[in-house]
Amino acid sequence: MKLHINIHKERCKGCGICVEVCQTGVLVLSEKKNERDCNIPEVVAMDECINCRMCEMFCPDFAIWVTEEEEEAA
Ligand code: SF4
Ligand code: SF4
Repeated sequence: MKLHINIHKERCKGCGICVEVCQTGVLVLSEKKNERDCNIPEVVAMDECINCRMCEMFCPDFAIWVTEEEEEAA
């Protein structure tokens, strides 16, 4: 299974909680802003994700969640 971090940009308020609770440095708060002028998180180290779902559990706005995808057949 391949992990994927989904970010709903317009729900995000740029609080940075997801970045703080991720213990493996997958996320950073980027310079990119949504329409509410909030800096949104960005995935910078997807390979470090351990699927703990802390980002998902702690996001107050349900703006980030993890999904598992089937690996593409080689
Ligand atoms: S699932 Fe865990 S390791 Fe992966 S991005 Fe979220 S907090 Fe970080
Ligand atoms: S915890 Fe949620 S609202 Fe806060 S920066 Fe992360 S995705 Fe955005």
